[in-house]
Formats: sequence, C-alpha cells, structure tokens
Amino acid sequence: MTKFETRAIHVAQDPDGRTGGVIPPIHMTTTHKQDGVGNLREGFEYNRAGNPTRQALQEALAALEGGRFGLSFSSGLAAEDAVIRGVLVPGDHVILANDMYGGSYRLFARVYVPWGITFTIVDLNNEAELEAAFVAGKTKMVWIETPSNPMMTIFDIAKVSAVAHKHGAVAVVDNTFATPYLQRPLELGADIVIHSTTKYLGGHSDVLGGAVVLNDGELAKKIEFIQFAVGAVSSPFDAWLTHRSIKTLALRMDRHCFNAQSVANYLETQTGTVSAVYYPGLESHPGHDIALKQMDGFGGMISFKLVGGIAAAKKFCENTRLFTLAESLGGVESLVNYPAEMTHASANGTPIEVPGDIVRLSVGVEHISDILADITQALDKI
Ligand SMILES: *Cc1c(COP(=O)(O)O)cnc(C)c1O
Repeated sequence: MTKFETRAIHVAQDPDGRTGGVIPPIHMTTTHKQDGVGNLREGFEYNRAGNPTRQALQEALAALEGGRFGLSFSSGLAAEDAVIRGVLVPGDHVILANDMYGGSYRLFARVYVPWGITFTIVDLNNEAELEAAFVAGKTKMVWIETPSNPMMTIFDIAKVSAVAHKHGAVAVVDNTFATPYLQRPLELGADIVIHSTTKYLGGHSDVLGGAVVLNDGELAKKIEFIQFAVGAVSSPFDAWLTHRSIKTLALRMDRHCFNAQSVANYLETQTGTVSAVYYPGLESHPGHDIALKQMDGFGGMISFKLVGGIAAAKKFCENTRLFTLAESLGGVESLVNYPAEMTHASANGTPIEVPGDIVRLSVGVEHISDILADITQALDKI
C-alpha cells in the first residue's frame, strides 16, 4: 500500500475517464439514468443511496483510517447519530468518558435517553471504574474521544477497546482532534472511528461534514442503512470540498503540531498568568506517555487555565487579534474559544461541565512568530 500522503492525494481521484480532467468533476445530480429497469451504471440510482463524488470521498476516508468501509455525512453529529442508531436499540447502555465534546454528550443526554438508551460516565483511564460500569447484557458501546475536547485528556485506545470487547461492547473512537494522520484507532483495536470532518479534515472552516470508518461488514451494513434510510448525507459539493482539503492534511497537521507545541512550551513559562497547560506534547501532561505510544504527533489543540480565573479567561479571549474568537477548530486560521459559554455551554450543570477558567486554542498554520506575539499581547492585557 502507498504511504498516507500519497493515498490522501490519489485514492479515488483518477483523472476523468471521458475528458481527462485531472480533477474528477463534481457529480451535481440527484439521480442516474438506468439502461433498463434495474440495470444501473456502476450501481448508481438515487443519490441519497450513493453519489460518485461522495463515494470518492468515502473511499479516501477509509484509505486514510486503514478501514474497509467509509461513510460520509452532513455533519459530525449526523455521523454519530448513524453509528448510535445503527448499533444500539432502546434498552441498551453506553459508557462515556468524563470529558468529551459537549454536542456528543447532548446527543446522548437529550436525544437518546428519552429514546430509551442509558449511559454511565467514567474516567476511562481508571480501569476499576470502567470495569464496574458495564451492565451485563446491556452495555453495547464504549465511547472514546482522545485527545478529548476541551481538556485534552488522553485515553488508551488499545486498553479501553480490549476491555469493551471482553464485555461484548463495541469501542467507538471520535478521532476528530488527532485525524488519521496522527492516530489510527482501528489499528489500535477500536471498532468504529467517527469524525467531524468540519474540523481538520475539512481544514478551512468552510464545510460541515462527518465520517464513519470501520472494518466489520455487519456493523457497516447497519450504519450504511441508517445513512440511506435517514439521509443525512454530504452534498456532492461538500464531499468534493472535503476531499480536496484532505490532500493537504499531512502538510497542515505537521505545521499545526509544530505551532501548537511552540505555543504550549511558551504558555508553560508564563507562570504569572497561566496556571496549567493541557497539551499532550508536554512532558508534564499526564497522558504524554500514552500519546507517544498511540499518536504520531500531538495535534493543534491546546487548553490552558488562567491564574486570574474566569475574568482573566474571558479577558484573554476578548483581546486576541490574530486568534479569532469563534467556535469550531481545525482550520488553517487560529481560533480562540471560551468553552464554558461557547462550545460546551450545553455541558453546564452536567458531569462533564467545563470550568470557567479554561481557554481553548485551535492553533492555526500562520507563522509561529505572529502567533506567539498575539498570545503575548493578549496575556499582557489581563
Ligand atoms: C465538532 C465536533 C463534533 C461534532 O461535529 P459537527 O460537524 O459539528 O456536527 C464531534 N466531536 C468533536 C470532537 C468535535 O470537535
């Protein structure tokens, strides 16, 4: 098999057969001509079931994660919904981690609990706590997000997946923060990988999307059925944009990693204003050793805690100039976020509530000296 960077550029991107266009056209169509009733061309009929541009993206996603099946959705949460409804039925139980994306928590707590799913929140790094959370005959899924959003906790994918399998549950990994360039959960024993491709895979803050990649044919059929029957698919244009962006993923991630490590190192020296820095590339990070083992780099996301508490955190967020105050992450431009009132507002009052003195940075690929200068001037304003 060719290397990651090569697959990112060439899988399902053969020049157009008819015209030789080096980039395949966007198939902006909802339906395909049949050469006789049920006599389909390459299996295409109605495009909720399949579209050539989406199919190309799905093949690329599978190739990057090293999985057999890739499915593309209109958002990360749509991808999660297809996995959850494909795998679980009312009455089932799920184990969640004590730090995760607020929207994923909201999906379980506000959509699936009324639908008859129950969940337990544990520290997935605490094996005794994890073991004790399984409900015999009912626990069907363990949900792992690593590095987690926003506290950058690292969970051991191989270890947690093995425990899940021992109890007959599937291990799902939200690989949004790491991307397949830095972490491939299927190789580590997980069953299903999900992504918000809105973030690093899309990489330019201009297209929403989600992905599911897995190896098991039976599970793939169930999730693909939800994709088809419910219909939260990527549009051809969204699929094309995402596929185009994937071609530079490796280049972008190398720079995100370099810039974020530099910022984390710098923040750790600012002990007058910064009381803690959460970045798995720091030796001081409790998950550093596991990250070294299961990741090929530490990514572009950092969270940190301010000595001055909530007021200082908000002041920092409102005084950056290069870092734009906005939700989302993973784009080429640097963003700053105040999780407690922005991305994780829905987690307030829940077991995964984010403290108010935390700031989250999505470190972009601008020049590092401009990035550091902006952080310095914003810290000076506190
Ligand atoms: C953004 C995000 C999601 C949700 O994806 P959408 O594309 O916004 O629906 C899920 N998981 C993580 C870790 C995220 O950051």
